Amino acid sequence: GLPPYDDANIFARILRGEIPARKVHEDAHALAFHDINPQAPVHVLVIPKGRYVSVADFAATASAEEIAGFWRAVAKVAKDLGLEGPGYRVLMNMGRDGGQEVPHFHVHIFGGRPLGRMVA
Ligand code: 5GP
Repeated sequence: GLPPYDDANIFARILRGEIPARKVHEDAHALAFHDINPQAPVHVLVIPKGRYVSVADFAATASAEEIAGFWRAVAKVAKDLGLEGPGYRVLMNMGRDGGQEVPHFHVHIFGGRPLGRMVA
C-alpha cells in the first residue's frame, strides 16, 4: 500500500508557505494552484489542507465538512477558470501503478482544449 504521510512532501511545503505556488483558490479546507509542468492550457491542482496520502485516507479519515469543502473547491475552481461551459477533466493518480509523484492527496483539473478520449 501507500506510505504514511510525509510532512516533507512538496505539497506540504506549499501549504506551509515554504515554497511558492501560483494560487488560484484557498479556503479553510482546500488550496488550488497551477501545476508547475502544465499538460493542458489549464492545469490546476486542488489539495485538501489535511494530511492525506490517498483518496482512501481522505475518504476514511477526513471530516464530512472537509470532504464537502474539498469537492466544492474543485467545482468552484473549474467554474472560476471558465471551464464549466466547455468542460474539463478531473484526474487522481494513486500509488505506484497510478504514477502518483507527490504523496499528498490531490486532484488535477485539466481544461482549455479538447482533451480527447481517455482510455486509461
Ligand atoms: P501526481 O503524479 O502526483 O498526480 O502529480 C503531481 C503533480 O505535481 C505533477 O503534475 C507535477 O508537475 C506537479 N508538481 C510537482 N512539484 C510541484 C511544485 O513544486 N509546484 C507545483 N505547482 N506543481 C508541482
